[in-house]
Amino acid sequence: MKSAVIGFPRVGKLRELKFASEKYFRGEISEKELNAVGKALREEHWRLQKDAGIDYISSNDFSFYDGMLDTTVLLNAIPGEYRELNLSENGVYFSMARGYQGAQGDVKAFAMKKWFNTNYHYLVPELSSDTKIKLSGNKPFDEYEEAKAIGIETKPVLIGAFTFLKLAKYNNGKNADDFMEDIIQCYKNILERFERLGTEWIQIDEPALVTDLSNADIARFVTLYKEILKGKNKSKVLLQTYFGDVRDCYRELVSLAFDGIGLDFLEGKKTLELIEINGFPEDKFLFAGVVIGKNIWKCDYRITLKLLNEIKQYANQIVIATSCSLLHVPYTLENETKLEDGIREHFSFAKEKLCELHELSYLAEEDFEASRKYIDNQKVFKTARLYEDKKVQADVSALSEEDFKRKSDRQERKQIQKNHFQLPLLPTTTIGSFPQTLEVKKNRSSFRKGEIDQETYDRQIFLFIEDCIRKQEELDIDVLVHGEFERNDMVEFFGENLAGYVFTEKAWVQSYGTRCVKPPIIFGDVKRIRPITVKYSEYAQSLTDRPVKGMLTGPVTILNWSFPREDISLQEMAYQIGIAIREEVCDLESAGIKMIQIDEAALKEKLPIRREEWYSEYLDWAIPAFRLCHSKVNPETQIHTHMCYSEFEEIVKDIDNMDADVISFEASRSKLTIIDALQANHFETEVGPGVYDIHSPRVPTVEEIVQALKRMLEKIDKNDLWINPDCGLKTRGVTETDASLKNLVEAAKAVRAQR
Ligand code: GLN
Ligand code: ZN
Repeated sequence: MKSAVIGFPRVGKLRELKFASEKYFRGEISEKELNAVGKALREEHWRLQKDAGIDYISSNDFSFYDGMLDTTVLLNAIPGEYRELNLSENGVYFSMARGYQGAQGDVKAFAMKKWFNTNYHYLVPELSSDTKIKLSGNKPFDEYEEAKAIGIETKPVLIGAFTFLKLAKYNNGKNADDFMEDIIQCYKNILERFERLGTEWIQIDEPALVTDLSNADIARFVTLYKEILKGKNKSKVLLQTYFGDVRDCYRELVSLAFDGIGLDFLEGKKTLELIEINGFPEDKFLFAGVVIGKNIWKCDYRITLKLLNEIKQYANQIVIATSCSLLHVPYTLENETKLEDGIREHFSFAKEKLCELHELSYLAEEDFEASRKYIDNQKVFKTARLYEDKKVQADVSALSEEDFKRKSDRQERKQIQKNHFQLPLLPTTTIGSFPQTLEVKKNRSSFRKGEIDQETYDRQIFLFIEDCIRKQEELDIDVLVHGEFERNDMVEFFGENLAGYVFTEKAWVQSYGTRCVKPPIIFGDVKRIRPITVKYSEYAQSLTDRPVKGMLTGPVTILNWSFPREDISLQEMAYQIGIAIREEVCDLESAGIKMIQIDEAALKEKLPIRREEWYSEYLDWAIPAFRLCHSKVNPETQIHTHMCYSEFEEIVKDIDNMDADVISFEASRSKLTIIDALQANHFETEVGPGVYDIHSPRVPTVEEIVQALKRMLEKIDKNDLWINPDCGLKTRGVTETDASLKNLVEAAKAVRAQR
């Protein structure tokens, strides 16, 4: 059997691309030097795959920023305002990625969105009446030839026309149909050019095929490829899908003239069933995604070989592949020096997955059970996991309805809380973090390096907290926060205080552009080891008569920003974490903290791609996991939550069902459309739609905020409205933060006076 990799991480073993790009942005290295780094990385990655015995290796999976942006350039879809800057080719490219402000003009960056159900973000192309799609640029061809020059035949990867049109944003009343003819011609030209270069296989990625498709979508897909494939002659075309199954268009897909079809057998729950019921064409190659491209666990050969055996009954020519691009996992386990025995052998990162693919490709052809490689692989799965905790498991099994329900209902609590807190109308607050100044960062790094002890570290944190409380009092904010100076990351900080978590040193995964994240790994059963935030919150509250919110991260967000286990369900993990957070909530309450915010910044992120699975696979446990955290508190304790995205129009009822007392969320960039949805659904939770955008250093004027508030008050009862920024302030500078909050309070007072 042959093996294939859909795509490989680009940033490099030690994030070389990130550091080189950032130097280039700062003007410290030239374009030529940056290009040389890119070239060296590509070569290294191709050779690595070649040496590992991979048969179908991708090219053009490399990008200096993002593959969708590369496609925008390739399709000549650069909007006029960026072209008109008259920058170099690279300059225009990065102006779309990051915005540009300088001698040549002032443009904003493209919008960024989550790439399907991953934590990778792509740049959203904008198509308008002055877009003329045609082939422009040489990147895929150059990179194909670059690999060929070192003796490696690759399969160039392109984002397909269907996915591109589906993800694009349209201006001037345009829609996808307006660009069909041109995009067909463009992809035909691309195929022809590869034909001329003698390319054997071309991979076209169409992940949008795994989403819910309308009849119009399917018709568009069929039209596109009926036409595009006419440009094909000797080269073979692989249509690659991932992140799910193609249940809405399987029959159409297999009836088109592709030479190979790539299907995901892991995240695609119905993939096997689809080929069982409908068969798979004899003349096509099936690229079977059976090695997970999204998680870091070692492949269990027993399960995978069994799956391959089943697939073999339906397809003649099978190529064993990753389930998606390896972009979503870290580079190599070799970088990790501190993982304990008993843990390390459970993992497999991108480089290690290459070896798995290769081994599986020959094990699948033989009587594998006696094979050394197979026996070695199985060892790990035969011994019990470290960090098993029967008590935690029993606690989860013992959960009953009461654990998910607060003692008093919302209206009753609301009255009790209004009497208890006596807050002014339209109370002001912030989301939690205050600017992480150099001193704050230095304190943390000194502590990590062992230069200062816990006591010295905490003493310093207490000083930061005191400053922060005094500042908020001076600003006359109504509900205060302690500032989050003890944490750099809202998941890692909690993970470090939970048993069952494992941390890596260099297991970075690209999130967008030059930004990488290092998600912690849920290795075993999770429980709280010690109180996590109590001393900081308690101290903050002791300094003031105003309420100070306790500040926690919720179970769904902790789970969604970690690598999850695969041996137990997401629900089970969410409930384990929920119980841990509940202990913290109860401790905060006992310590006299009257308002507790449990952030669910990432709740929306893992909503399944398929609408029919929203509840059964996710919301049915995600919402209860949140309720679990606060079910035990007294009626007068006010529970807040915060979500980063406001695009939750379609699940407004479920958000209400979290049964928090107050929710804050991002709204300033989304033109307040969410407010209509709240009104239409009779949203009951009190709300703090962000009144200004914290992602930019710009200071909002009083008048702007007043206007935003007035618009909100047209749709939201004045007794239910809170006033706060969009999100935490940790990435902002001190000066702009002070100025913005001053204006926020002034605006609140002005509007209050008129009510
Ligand atoms: N409480 C967190 C903060 O203010 C929330 C961060 C977030 O929503 N991502 O930083
Ligand atoms: Zn946020």
